[in-house]
Amino acid sequence: MTQAIPFQNSYARLPDRFFTRMSAKPVEKPGLVAINADLAHQLGLDADWLNSEDGLAMLAGNHVPAGAEPLAQVYAGHQFGGWSPQLGDGRALLLGELRDTQGNLRDIQLKGSGPTPYSRMGDGRVWLGPVMREYIVSEAMHALEVPTTRALAAVTTGEIVLREAPLPGAVLTRVAASHLRVGTFQYFAARQDEEALATLCEFAIKRHYPEAKTTLDLLNSVIAAQAKLIAKWMGLGFIHGVMNTDNMTISGETIDYGPCAFMETYHPETVYSSIDQYGRYAYGNQPEIAVWNLAQLATALLPLIDADQNTGIELATEAVHAFPDLYAKAYGTEFAAKLALDPGAADTAGLVQEFLGLITGHADFTLAFRGLASGQTRDLFKDPNAYDAWTERWTKSRLADWETALPRANPGFIPRNHQIEAAIQSGVLGDYSHFNRLNSVLRTPFKDQPEHADLQVPATMENAVRQTFCGT
Ligand code: AMP
Ligand code: MG
Repeated sequence: MTQAIPFQNSYARLPDRFFTRMSAKPVEKPGLVAINADLAHQLGLDADWLNSEDGLAMLAGNHVPAGAEPLAQVYAGHQFGGWSPQLGDGRALLLGELRDTQGNLRDIQLKGSGPTPYSRMGDGRVWLGPVMREYIVSEAMHALEVPTTRALAAVTTGEIVLREAPLPGAVLTRVAASHLRVGTFQYFAARQDEEALATLCEFAIKRHYPEAKTTLDLLNSVIAAQAKLIAKWMGLGFIHGVMNTDNMTISGETIDYGPCAFMETYHPETVYSSIDQYGRYAYGNQPEIAVWNLAQLATALLPLIDADQNTGIELATEAVHAFPDLYAKAYGTEFAAKLALDPGAADTAGLVQEFLGLITGHADFTLAFRGLASGQTRDLFKDPNAYDAWTERWTKSRLADWETALPRANPGFIPRNHQIEAAIQSGVLGDYSHFNRLNSVLRTPFKDQPEHADLQVPATMENAVRQTFCGT
């Protein structure tokens, strides 16, 4: 039985040079990994139908639902600082957009759907590991109140994908406010296609920032959204791992969970990604990299900011220079909340910096903050006397409702890399019980869940995952 899905296709209405229309390459045998029933409901989709043979056929790309106009989007981008003039959906297809229960249009994208004209040397596929990782982490980020793309479904393909070894193939259904990236603007700017740039700006404004009246307003809005987003990442110890300009959204959502990880032991220089040899995308570098990426966006938008180039440059520079203050304010708010302090108080920044200084290099970031309310943090300090001295000052400054405020600002549960790895290892064998357990616990990360205390424990020397690989 087919299901009428009210797809809208606003991206497909854009000029032809924005994408390539095409269908997914069918797979051998779609198999269920997970359906996100809550998200399905928010999108007006029937989770039971998604789980049916026809539903799985759609999620695997074997069946194009009526009303969908699948396409691969084109974009460009700076990857690790190097310019790639032509990227694009090399293993993904946009099926169309759906309006959610809150009235927002959301992209529905299949990732792992086969080769496209933008695949370069790639096979257009994804193996099950990265699909499970993106499902777990993006849904956890959502529960942690971070703007993010989401995971509607994961299915296996019944086919083998060749990586370091033969691995089971899979397709993720990704839901996003849109898939517009900094790199989408760069693509047209590099071709000096001002008409396309203007069309893209209009599309982005309508979709994400309807209050924006000019290109400069759009740029300012993206900068403000990214400043807030990066501050959220920092507050959770999240390391994106591959902050290329094609992996930075215009909407302000986190996108592309490749070699990402949540930091365990606090250290600003922490890097997990195997492809990030020089630590470009280390935890502590993320705000600076965001500025770098946003400067690329500003550069791409220049011709539309002002007819006079010098004026344009001046306005764009001013916009980008606003980032540090916007970010500092958002970071201050995040970390003040994490310590139940008044963000406006004179000693707040000092207390935050001192606390971070004391845990640097030895305490688990998540547990150090989570343990404050219950007094367990002292045990994590190398120097308990320093903790006591800090606590004496903190006790005088913290807000009256600190005891209830702290657990609401500091999760007990984050998706720890070694747990994700364990879920993938059993998933490859067809056992999704650990994957399901992680997803279920991570839906309420701020809640005490003593029966799942084992998931709070940082990696040991034996099970530590020191590197995460690109999701290819
Ligand atoms: P990412 O590093 O995942 O952001 O991807 C960078 C670029 O490489 C994008 O244009 C992707 O579409 C493309 N890409 C990555 N993996 C594959 C693959 N297995 N097949 C085809 N294209 C890919
Ligand atoms: Mg990408």
